Parts: sequence; structure tokens; C-alpha cells
Amino acid sequence: MSYFSTAITIFSFRRELQIVALAFLIITLTPVFAVFMLLNNGLDIVSDRLATVDTQTQAIEIHDPTTGEVVTEIHPVVAWPISGVYTAEFGVLTPYQLFHSGIDIAGPKGTPVHPFMEGTVVYAGEIWWGFGKHVIIDHGNNITSVYAHLDKIFVVKGHPVTINQVIGNRGSTGWSTGPHLHFQINVYGLPVDPRTFMGNLANGVPIEEADHDH
Ligand SMILES: [Zn+2]
Repeated sequence: MSYFSTAITIFSFRRELQIVALAFLIITLTPVFAVFMLLNNGLDIVSDRLATVDTQTQAIEIHDPTTGEVVTEIHPVVAWPISGVYTAEFGVLTPYQLFHSGIDIAGPKGTPVHPFMEGTVVYAGEIWWGFGKHVIIDHGNNITSVYAHLDKIFVVKGHPVTINQVIGNRGSTGWSTGPHLHFQINVYGLPVDPRTFMGNLANGVPIEEADHDH
């Protein structure tokens, strides 16, 4: 093989490599941009419309995601799942999420975590990334809640739970920089601002402390 033909081979191979690299970049980045656009422009708009408060009755209105119509009005008994320092509100930028899907409540590891509302456990387990050890509770009416980065879990799938129950305790499992609870409420599987449900409840007044007042 002459030097000339070797040069030709390398040259054409580089061209192909460039095309492959460019195609790879486009394929990789397209969903990233799509997710970025969805999270920043779509999710906050959708979230705001899924759960609203009736200013007259203080009822929580659950909207059909496709039609926007109110499908249910509920008056749930709620409590903050844990006390602590509120380090990240819903919708803010965090090191792990462009659009924070819940509220972070930081504090000592081991503090008990309660469901914000009664329901049934639909998931209790661990993943090595993201939420780490977490519990998901179904509250009916297409409302679910997530309690993430737990240190320990005390319930199993199928357990009915009340707001008095301890479902786990605060930890730092999964994508977490320190002990905190990631508390998330979903309506039709999409995260909504938990404060819509918590109403005027003062920050971090969990059930044990709220009970002392009565
Ligand atoms: Zn979080």
C-alpha cells in the first residue's frame, strides 16, 4: 500500500467519524433539550392547573389533565410529613433537578417521616440513584405522594397508612448532599406544588407537634 492510498483511507475514515460524532451529538442532545423545555415551560404550567384551591370553600380541586375540568373536590386532613429547614421549594433549580419536583426539608438523620395524608403504600423500596430509599403513597383521586432519600423504611407495599404513622426516617440515600426529606405530591403522576395541599399550615409542623395543641 502506497503512502498516497493510506492517506486517502485515513482522510475518508475521519470524515465518517466526524459524521458519526455529529449524529451522536444530535441524537444525545435532542432529548436533553426536549426535557429542558418541558420541565421549564411545560411542567410548571401543567402543575399549576392540576391542583387548585377553591377560594370560597378551601376545597382542593383536582383537574383532568386533558380537559382542565374539575373532576373532584376534596377536603383532605393534611400535615407536613416532617419538621426541619426548608432548603428547596417546588419548581426551583437544584443540583439534581432543573425544576424541583417537590419540597426539601433538611434536618437530623433519623427523624420520623409521616404521610402528609392518609392512603395506601404503593411503593416501598430503594434505587441507587435519584430518590434512593423511598415510599410512594396512593391517596385516591389520582393523588400520590413521594418521600425520598429515607434512611430506613418501616412500611411495605399494600399497607394502609394514616398521618399519625411513621413510614420511615430521614436520611441521605440516592442523589442527596445531606440528610433531608424530598416530599413530593403528584396529581395524575405529575408533580404539583405541595403547598397547594398544605394550605396555611405553618412550615414543618408534623403531626406529633400539631397534636400537642389539642
Ligand atoms: Zn428534592
